[in-house]
Amino acid sequence: MEKRTFAIGNIRPPFHANSLLLQVTENCTWNRCNFCTLYRGGQFKMRSAEDVKKDIDTVAYYRDKIFEKYDGKDFDMDKIMREYSSLSVEEKNCYAMVFNWIRSDNMKTVFLQDANTTSIRLDVITDILRHLRKILPSLEVVSSYGRADTLTRLDVDGFKALKEAGLTMIHSGYESGCNDVLKLLNKGTTREQQIEAGQKIKAAGIDFNVFYMPGSGGKALSERNAIETADVINQIDPEYIRIRTFVVKPQTPMWEIAKGNDFQELTDIEKLQELVLMTENLKGIKSYLISDHIINLLPRFEGYINKDKEDMLRYAKEFLNLPKNKQMEFQLARRLCYNVDYNMMNYMPSEDMTQIREVIKNISSPQEWEELLRRYLRQYI
Ligand code: SF4
Repeated sequence: MEKRTFAIGNIRPPFHANSLLLQVTENCTWNRCNFCTLYRGGQFKMRSAEDVKKDIDTVAYYRDKIFEKYDGKDFDMDKIMREYSSLSVEEKNCYAMVFNWIRSDNMKTVFLQDANTTSIRLDVITDILRHLRKILPSLEVVSSYGRADTLTRLDVDGFKALKEAGLTMIHSGYESGCNDVLKLLNKGTTREQQIEAGQKIKAAGIDFNVFYMPGSGGKALSERNAIETADVINQIDPEYIRIRTFVVKPQTPMWEIAKGNDFQELTDIEKLQELVLMTENLKGIKSYLISDHIINLLPRFEGYINKDKEDMLRYAKEFLNLPKNKQMEFQLARRLCYNVDYNMMNYMPSEDMTQIREVIKNISSPQEWEELLRRYLRQYI
């Protein structure tokens, strides 16, 4: 019997955990950012529109099979499990993804993999999008990554065509709005391209999500990284600004660069200070700033810039004004993945606090402290 499978790539943004993943392309068109290992060794490939459309049909097939076991209130899990058990390993992966998408996402979101799907030919991607919308009409959010350099190749009408075909959101790893930082990262993009791409996307009515990496310029470029990134964002007013605090990752060119004099990594606290400075410089925009990654120090540094900015800054500054030992206790708890905030440390189990204090007591230098935090942080990147 013919196997019913669809392609699923390994990499997705964390906030697409429950989305349907649809592999339209493979790998990254650039693949040379100094801090990134995601697609190392992989060649960018475009899948044929016919293959992707077949995948969409297979998703619909599993969706319908699963709904045959729905009585209007809940799924018959015995029947679901029987059907699942009868499948091959590859089919099981597809079935499980569709079931999770139905149960956890209500079939509303799809992410088009991989790292730069918006770079493919406009007629091909719109053809795929139209089929997607026809076959899976419950979708509300259809999103894709796009690099600023390739996004600038489209004009506003091109983005409007994407929107009309069904694309609702573009994510872009801007990382920094400072050209010198972008050069240091070997990002292959410029702030001018970022502004142009972002403004066109907004003009076409597509939601836009940019990523910023506080600390990515190191000590020397920290202030410019904050101010120039805020300036780029102010000129776009994207729907979302997502924070991904920079940590140097082993086995990347950045790791080697950081051993020399060209890059001095900021401390955990200095990275937060850079984020605060960037946020202070965000003006006249309605973007929602999101801190949805464990790598960021403060879990609740989030909100609408036009409404919540002052509260966000107060919250961060309260932490920055704490006595050093209180800051360290929270930093370590956060880096050990405790679900706490700095103003909730009283709720930590007392044995755990004793251990945290013991670790801090044995730290002999600021360098040792930063290295300890970075060791934990590197587990999350
Ligand atoms: S563009 Fe994105 S996926 Fe590609 S190398 Fe850079 S960070 Fe990695």
